[in-house]
Amino acid sequence: MHDAANDPPESLRLDSCSTQLVNQLGQDEERLAMLKEIIDFLPLGAGITISDKDGRIAYVNQAEAEMHGYARGELIGRPARILAPEVKTRGRRIDPGTAGLWKRECLNVRKDGKIFPVQLTSRPIRNAGGAYLGMLTACEDMTQRKLCEQQLETLAYYDSVTKLPNRSLLMDRLHQALALAQRERRELALLFLDLDNFKDLNSSKGHEAGDKFLQEVAARLASCLSEANTLARLGGDEFVILFNPGPGEEGVAATAARLQALFAEPFLIDGEELYGSTSIGIALYPDDGRDVESLLRCADAALYQAKSEGKASYQFFSQEMNQVTMRRVALENGMRQGLARGEFYLYFQPQWDLKTLRLTGAEALLRWHSAEFGLVGPDEFIPIAESCGFIFDLGDLVLREACLHAVEWDRICPGLKVAVNISGRQFRQPDFLETVARVVEESGVGPSSLELEFTESVIMERAEKNIHALQALKRMGVRLSIDDFGTGYSSLNYLKHFPIDAIKIDRSFIAELVSDSDDAAIAEAIISMAHSLKLKVIAEGVENDAQLDFLVDRCCDEAQGFYFAPPMPGEDFTGYVKRFSVSEDVTKPLSVAG
Ligand code: C2E
Ligand code: MG
Ligand code: MG
Repeated sequence: MHDAANDPPESLRLDSCSTQLVNQLGQDEERLAMLKEIIDFLPLGAGITISDKDGRIAYVNQAEAEMHGYARGELIGRPARILAPEVKTRGRRIDPGTAGLWKRECLNVRKDGKIFPVQLTSRPIRNAGGAYLGMLTACEDMTQRKLCEQQLETLAYYDSVTKLPNRSLLMDRLHQALALAQRERRELALLFLDLDNFKDLNSSKGHEAGDKFLQEVAARLASCLSEANTLARLGGDEFVILFNPGPGEEGVAATAARLQALFAEPFLIDGEELYGSTSIGIALYPDDGRDVESLLRCADAALYQAKSEGKASYQFFSQEMNQVTMRRVALENGMRQGLARGEFYLYFQPQWDLKTLRLTGAEALLRWHSAEFGLVGPDEFIPIAESCGFIFDLGDLVLREACLHAVEWDRICPGLKVAVNISGRQFRQPDFLETVARVVEESGVGPSSLELEFTESVIMERAEKNIHALQALKRMGVRLSIDDFGTGYSSLNYLKHFPIDAIKIDRSFIAELVSDSDDAAIAEAIISMAHSLKLKVIAEGVENDAQLDFLVDRCCDEAQGFYFAPPMPGEDFTGYVKRFSVSEDVTKPLSVAG
């Protein structure tokens, strides 16, 4: 049998000119064995060189010669330095003591002059008496590994879509900039940018177009900044600019205006002209915050303010914003716990038919009885739930609960409907239609007993796409209405393209119906135009006789409001249904208003 263990390894079949070294090694069995062991141990493909005590190459293996672009014969007898000129060495000794091995990273030179990174592992060769005979060196080409390391670094610190620094790199730079600013008493400015309506562009034009849009935005922003400033993408449609040093308040304002002007021209994406804009929040060091976290929080608060004051604007941070943000953050965190603790309740507000004087159903309105914050209104927590995505959990809960109640009430009074408010983000969820279909099926609700309310702005945001989604809902048999009509685009003419059943006149018009002739004229016009389009009209926020008379007189179809009853818990509404579902007389519900 072939005894591999006793064969000299390939790498030890030395060239003739190194006989002397071989002889010396050969006289020392123990050292030779050790040498063999090391060579066997070295990774495959490593180059191996044995140099004599004068530093001349006594042996190289094929891999070493190839790696450096030489034939093996060309190297024998030449100084080992020609492969690894020490001046290029930038490595440091790693554990020189360990088992006598000396490891270092350095730059070697090929025959054609090209420099490449290597890792060298050397070990002196000594005879039994300890006299130095030469050096055994293994050489690993590190080019690939360095490339991989670079790629990993790129992945870790740069955003793959825009190639801009990502959150990690921004945080590094921010920490460094802050330390320097503290030492040198400089100012810094941090700008948070959030593209307006990007989500809609992304969902209507597709993610590829969305990515191209982001790349183009990144290029435009970069074109207006100097190298010294960091432009980073935090993810989604959020960009951050760190000005180091800060150009002062006026300088920052001028820059923010310039950044916004970059959006004036359309973006040409796949041959189509797309428009965009950005909101900007600004925090300054040291005025607004002295550490990274507070600066980020301030810039975020300012951005939130810029967004809510109408888009395409910029805002400097102010202390009042801090309180708003702190409450927002606290509510956002509290909401999750609140849901787990069962602090959310559905209330129901009765809706009445003004012609037949019958109860038609109820609108489901969410309430949060928080142990920590007390009663929080939906006007406050729904927008927060929308912005942090918590609306998906809440929305599912509302839809399910409302449908289960509707089944119960339908048994007492067949034909009652329950209206559920749907937020924009919920509606844009790709699986929204499936969710509705599943809840309808699981709850056993008759689809026509469920009415979904959308605001005009939600419907109009992605009009084309929405028509299809609404048509699909209609095919399921679900009823659809437009909430808060009059506060948005208010284009009935446009709305006729949508398969909707009813519009709800916003309560702000009803409030001044009798005292403000403009509001009266608007309400009247909405009712008559809606009727000409065969849409039902529901008036919200009816509080008194005068308003009701006006609406009955103008043939408004339905109404809800404190006049009839405030929103009430589900069990109370069950009692309400039992009490009024057989009513033929409008004075009965009117009398409970108290
Ligand atoms: P909305 O859908 O327009 O609901 C009608 C609002 O008017 C309710 O406020 C209701 O309590 C209030 N209201 C009813 N009658 C009267 C009245 O006679 N006078 C006055 N001044 N107000 C009256 P609420 O419950 O505070 O809800 C506010 C908004 O929060 C809702 O407006 C709706 O947009 C949103 N919302 C409530 N629940 C949900 C939900 O489950 N999901 C979503 N996405 N939004 C919800
Ligand atoms: Mg509503
Ligand atoms: Mg409304």
